[in-house]
Amino acid sequence: MSHIPTLADLGDVGGKRVLVRTDFNVPMDNGVITDDFRIRSALPTIEWLTSRGAHVVCASHLGRPKGKPDPKYSMDAVRARLAELAPGVELMENLRYNPGEEGNDPQFVASLIQGIDAYVDDAFGACHRAHASIVGPPRTLPSAMGLLMQREVEVLLGLRNNPKRPFVAVLGGAKISDKLGVVEALLNVVDALVIGGAMCFTFLVARGYPIGDSLWEPDQVETCKRLLADSASNGKTIHLPEDLVGLDAAGNFATFGVRLPDGAKGLDIGPGTAAAFSDVIMDARTVFWNGPMGMFEDPRFEAGTRTVAQAMADTKAFTVVGGGDSAAALAQFGLDHDVDHVSTGGGASLELLEYGDLPGLEALRAAPNA
Ligand code: AMP
Repeated sequence: MSHIPTLADLGDVGGKRVLVRTDFNVPMDNGVITDDFRIRSALPTIEWLTSRGAHVVCASHLGRPKGKPDPKYSMDAVRARLAELAPGVELMENLRYNPGEEGNDPQFVASLIQGIDAYVDDAFGACHRAHASIVGPPRTLPSAMGLLMQREVEVLLGLRNNPKRPFVAVLGGAKISDKLGVVEALLNVVDALVIGGAMCFTFLVARGYPIGDSLWEPDQVETCKRLLADSASNGKTIHLPEDLVGLDAAGNFATFGVRLPDGAKGLDIGPGTAAAFSDVIMDARTVFWNGPMGMFEDPRFEAGTRTVAQAMADTKAFTVVGGGDSAAALAQFGLDHDVDHVSTGGGASLELLEYGDLPGLEALRAAPNA
């Protein structure tokens, strides 16, 4: 794979205006930022540039304003916080106020890079999308990945290309169809897959178990059957739950074996399964985790996710957590500093593991200075 330019490949940035695509898509509550982690994460790159005399202009999306201005998604609060953390740095208005961002419109790209001398992409969480601010500027400007992005790429491509074994992937969450591609790709690189969350029920159906009223995706059963058969013939292990926790038909909290009665709903892995999954994580040398083991937002159904999070913190393995809900769960349990890498991109980290490349990285590799 050809070289992805880094900050040093920009040459002398003194006196230049540098556009930095950041991921400032922070959680907000009534116009107030509830967690500024993503803003603070961009500071090393911003400081690298400003300390060398560059003038930095940041640009980000925030929420989903659907291509038109919407005060709910204004960048004002982010701009105020950024001014405290990095005085003198500019921030453009929400990129998704303009339909040209998601539509990758060349005219919108031209407006973004007007008066700009160089481009830096530090928005790993948006790099799997061929949007204007991601793939447009590197077509003409000297470009580089920022420090945050560089670490993401090193860690995730390292997992994909050269993991210490055994390498275990732990997958959960609700949407299986999103993740089956990655399950299939991961089966080529991991030694074992651990499957919890609502994702497990389609696999349990494929194994012939009754799952009551749990979430599942009928059109994915055949794929799950094939994946189970392929893994068995390739010497890979797919670990599925052997007990479950959820609600019985009357809506009461209950613990079940792997067969759910009619009307019951599985909402977390059971304690036996959590212990078994934890053992697999403890014995691994590399672990990638994406997706909660149950509906952890409800304290009745958080135990499975908590046990897995604790094992991630305790194991000697190299541990990587792929964004989104699993990162939120880790933070909820106060364990986010006990893993080796928390990716800032949920979808982007899965896609990089799946394909080994992303549209944003391809664009940087084709930049004029690459
Ligand atoms: P995803 O966006 O696919 O990673 O899914 C994350 C969501 O899956 C979280 O909000 C969890 O509450 C939810 N979830 C995990 N396990 C279950 C389950 N067994 N039943 C329903 N929802 C679940």
